[in-house]
Amino acid sequence: MTIALIVHGGAGNWRPGTDADALAGVTAAVAAGRLILEAGGTALDAALAAAVALEDNPIFNAGTGGVLNLDGDVEFDACVMLSPEVGKTCPSVGAVSALQRVKNPILVAREVMEQTDHVMLSGDGAARFARAMGHADYNPITAARHADWAEKKARLASATDKDSHKLCAFLQAHQEYAGGTIGAVAVDVHGGICAATSTGGMTLKMAGRVGDTPLPGAGTYASRYAGASATGTGEYVMRALSCKQISDEVQKGRSISEAVEAALDLLTAEFQADVGLIAVDAQGVPYANHRTPHMPHAYFAGTGGIVAKMRVS
Ligand code: ASP
Repeated sequence: MTIALIVHGGAGNWRPGTDADALAGVTAAVAAGRLILEAGGTALDAALAAAVALEDNPIFNAGTGGVLNLDGDVEFDACVMLSPEVGKTCPSVGAVSALQRVKNPILVAREVMEQTDHVMLSGDGAARFARAMGHADYNPITAARHADWAEKKARLASATDKDSHKLCAFLQAHQEYAGGTIGAVAVDVHGGICAATSTGGMTLKMAGRVGDTPLPGAGTYASRYAGASATGTGEYVMRALSCKQISDEVQKGRSISEAVEAALDLLTAEFQADVGLIAVDAQGVPYANHRTPHMPHAYFAGTGGIVAKMRVS
């Protein structure tokens, strides 16, 4: 089996002047996961090592540096999903939504998968579970994100009626409000596939809003055919079930690149959606594309070097 790992740092408009930091961040995440895969470790451990490296990097919208909602709080969504064990049909999956005040939401998602009978825990219940699992109270709000939020909230308040009659329309017109979600998809030496996605969601989202990230099949999916992670406006990805679509297309015999392009084409045709997708098939072929100006991403496959880019083309 060919080992492989691909990560993204969020689709959207990347802040001018920070490309080098974004590229260093996604490269370091792939390097962390690669060490595990090369030592014979699992796709789960590798994808989560990469995801934690990205969550701990304050320039990405996940973990430390997550974006603030309308109320000024950070509510995290995260999901981890594993291809089915041999002889099984359904994947393993764990998720959290609207979870506040933890350092690494993706690790709590793993614990939901491994330590409970449930697939997803939300809000206060998720926070209580996180504390029981030993995750200390943690304030993920950085000074930079807080300043960003205050400025955007002021702009929202002064937006014209035309722009602001729907918050959604306003956010559409200002894509710099999106971006920075993180995702990782790994294939291990046994052919196991793991997909992990983690986010603070969309800046100025309503409190309690849950996006595509924690929903199996929408923002995160892994099957025996492929694994995928999405980024961009979650409301579109939730309707299209884009990550499941990628797996279904590969199951039907399409290549991983054809599968990702088909999912992006559908999102564009239906919604003109500002979405990016990363995926890997069971043969260890990674692929990424996005319909946004930027999507920092990095990958390696087999013995090849790490490739890191701000945009696909
Ligand atoms: N997909 C995420 C959400 O809607 C946001 C993003 O990827 O930028 O919560």
